[in-house]
Amino acid sequence: MKFVYDFTEGNKDLKDLLGGKGANLAEMTNLGLPVPPGFTITTEACKVYLDSGEEPAALRDEVSAHLDALEARMGKKLGQADNPLLVSVRSGAKFSMPGMMDTVLNIGLSDKSVQGLAKQAGDERFAWDSYRRLIQMFGKTVLGVDGELFEDALEAAKAAKKVTVDTELEAADLKKLVTKFKKIVKTEAGRDFPQDPREQMDLAIHAVFDSWNTDRAKLYRRQERIPHDLGTAVNVCSMVFGNLGPDSGTGVAFTRDPASGHQGVYGDYLQNAQGEDVVAGIRNTVPLAELERIDKKSYDQLMQIMETLENHYKDLCDIEFTIERGQLWMLQTRVGKRTAGAAFRIATQLVDQGLIDEAEALTRVNGAQLAQLMFPRFDESAKVEQVGRGIAASPGAAVGKAVFDSYTAVKWSRSGEKVILIRRETNPDDLDGMIAAEGILTSRGGKTSHAAVVARGMGKTCVCGAEELEVDTKRRRMTVPGGHVVEEGDVVSIDGSTGKVYLGEVPVVPSPVVEYFEGRMHAGAEDADELVEAVHRIMAFADRKRRLRVRANADNAEDALRARRFGAQGIGLCRTEHMFLGDRRELVERLILADTDAEREESLKQLLPLQKQDFVQLFESMDGLPVTVRLLDPPLHEFLPDITELSVRVALAESRQEPHENELRLLQAVHRLHEQNPMLGLRGVRLGLVIPGLFTMQVRAIAEAAAERKAAKGDPRAEIMIPLVGTVQELEIVREEADQVIAEVEAASGTQLKLSIGTMIELPRAALTAGQIAEAAQFFSFGTNDLTQTVWGFSRDDVEASFFTAYLEKGIFGVSPFETIDKDGVGSLVKLAAKAGRETRPDLKLGVCGEHGGDPESVHFFHEVGLDYVSCSPFRIPVARLEAGRAAV
Ligand code: PEP
Ligand code: MG
Repeated sequence: MKFVYDFTEGNKDLKDLLGGKGANLAEMTNLGLPVPPGFTITTEACKVYLDSGEEPAALRDEVSAHLDALEARMGKKLGQADNPLLVSVRSGAKFSMPGMMDTVLNIGLSDKSVQGLAKQAGDERFAWDSYRRLIQMFGKTVLGVDGELFEDALEAAKAAKKVTVDTELEAADLKKLVTKFKKIVKTEAGRDFPQDPREQMDLAIHAVFDSWNTDRAKLYRRQERIPHDLGTAVNVCSMVFGNLGPDSGTGVAFTRDPASGHQGVYGDYLQNAQGEDVVAGIRNTVPLAELERIDKKSYDQLMQIMETLENHYKDLCDIEFTIERGQLWMLQTRVGKRTAGAAFRIATQLVDQGLIDEAEALTRVNGAQLAQLMFPRFDESAKVEQVGRGIAASPGAAVGKAVFDSYTAVKWSRSGEKVILIRRETNPDDLDGMIAAEGILTSRGGKTSHAAVVARGMGKTCVCGAEELEVDTKRRRMTVPGGHVVEEGDVVSIDGSTGKVYLGEVPVVPSPVVEYFEGRMHAGAEDADELVEAVHRIMAFADRKRRLRVRANADNAEDALRARRFGAQGIGLCRTEHMFLGDRRELVERLILADTDAEREESLKQLLPLQKQDFVQLFESMDGLPVTVRLLDPPLHEFLPDITELSVRVALAESRQEPHENELRLLQAVHRLHEQNPMLGLRGVRLGLVIPGLFTMQVRAIAEAAAERKAAKGDPRAEIMIPLVGTVQELEIVREEADQVIAEVEAASGTQLKLSIGTMIELPRAALTAGQIAEAAQFFSFGTNDLTQTVWGFSRDDVEASFFTAYLEKGIFGVSPFETIDKDGVGSLVKLAAKAGRETRPDLKLGVCGEHGGDPESVHFFHEVGLDYVSCSPFRIPVARLEAGRAAV
């Protein structure tokens, strides 16, 4: 196996092996762009190292061979005393993990070669500054020395000299600082700072491998759902310097605005600085457009390269570059992160430019982004007190209590508080706090600062670089212009789409995307919102592409109508138990308590017209589209009063010697019906089988409602669904009764109702015997909520609050199986049942109506296993439509 690739050997499609950074450096090299030469050590080498604790046997020689070649090309040797080659050693995993893993710059500097570098650069100060940076970075990341010790020594050096910025330290000061830094290394790490350049390089490579498994990297992967076994590649790249004077510098750029998608010049530039200074957001940068004035030649070349890259990748790219004494170098590019709104806009812009087609456009957006765009926004007409404005780094409207450190953010959010994390700037140690917060506000750093990049990645609201806010993290307060002080716990509101910061709670309004789906805003209109236009077009692409139909879970006309506006193609689940609440509860109570057939029949007779009316409305609102009505599912005692409350009532009445016969009867019934495990008890089809007349009343209501709609020239398409079936016999009995009722209604009304009868597959036994069940069912709808509950043995009402956090933390699963379908377990039952069902009945209609029907990843799975439709709550319908389209690409 080959473990090392020169930049000339790789390409952008080798991300698994070379990581994103390595693959793209290779791609740029092969495009003829100015990339400093170097090579990449593969993720395979990292995996061997992490598994065995040792690097693969062949790695050392391979690295030597590539280093020899690099040295020959550069005409200098690594760490050579008089004319040293210096390299950077950088991590680079398949998926970008900003700031999560290690990088060491200036490898190759030593007591001897620092002199050589001074001569080479003609700048002694620069050479010693580079050397102290190496010892500092190496000490911290490779040797595990506390970084604060170096920072403190640097501060002390500045204080001794009575200066405030690093650049005011001279060569002699930095030389002294190097001696001090080496002492720190010796005391803290128990070894000397290595003078052998190859040893420096090898140790740095191991440190990068090890950084894959730091706690913060693991946390980030879990959050972003990046698999833990990918490993990182390591890029060894010849150094170029952005800190060689005013004709040098470093910057980041986007080929278009990652917040709006608009084309233009977007980025930040920092003169006379090294790359990490920009990414860390430590010093304030100037807008990229200023580079034109500072160095026109490099600026023009950069614009040219950006165009080449965008046309080549056919997407927004972000770039890191360095200018060394007027010579431009590309240090990194990748398809850039962007806000949800920009993703939609860019995808349609690229279609219009003829760079990508509709199908490709669908791969450039996703359901999570669409969901984000459907969040409410701040009400601009509200009376608000704006106190600052920063950079709109990641959109959304966030309101919460101000906290100034991650620890408090996590603590307060655990106790149910909404918080806004306010920092001068964030760094990777703030990740926990950023996850816990509603939004993030920083007073420093640009669009590419850590806070901005990470927040965008998480889809979290972020305003950064709000410079007029004075953040004092030590005293846990922030001073706003005019002198008002925001203390910890005061409520603030931040708008990540405009960058505005407000005091107090600002009211929120619905998003334009929701207004569009609701039909209150139209695409194609002259003043149409640009975003709405883009969403409209992408939804059309998805609808054209998808095979899965999308239905709604809805049990009243209002929800049904909204679902229809959102694009539902029918109702996949109407839970009739929701129709038995309110005033009707008493009727149900009487039904349950009935002592005689006559009493029971009387209550059923009273329920019938009410149920029928519900269905008439539902069928009318979904006229022409299928409506799956599920017969009563939950355990009966859910319709009776709480056992403790009732016992108290009875006891009180007894002690007061008041009449309480009814209460007593009720209490006896509650006791009789009480179950230890109601979810596994008398519910679903079992109710229909033991309570005579209950299901037939519901079937009659459905049939009569359909007949009434037909008589009114409507087009009702009812499907009757039997819940919690475990064996075909249960279904056969219910069907026989239902068929008879339907025949009676058809005869009485003189119409053919064409009602179909099917079942839910929500018990393992039903899935395992689906071939038999299909004999009696015209359709299956997978109830993946109960199926997940019964396959895992997890109580769906309890586990998420009890032990799931621990399971998620331990990585047993990356996401709750109640949220995203467990493909290996629950999913294989779905697959098996779908196949067996269709073997029995080739035209068997298959759908899913558990919560998973609206979950993006699960929708792809249901597409793959060949279901006909997914059904989800009305609000999730657009997401399901989009994901169904994406699944079909
Ligand atoms: C299910 O079990 O997945 C389902 C849709 O039914 P309910 O959630 O009503 O039990
Ligand atoms: Mg269920």
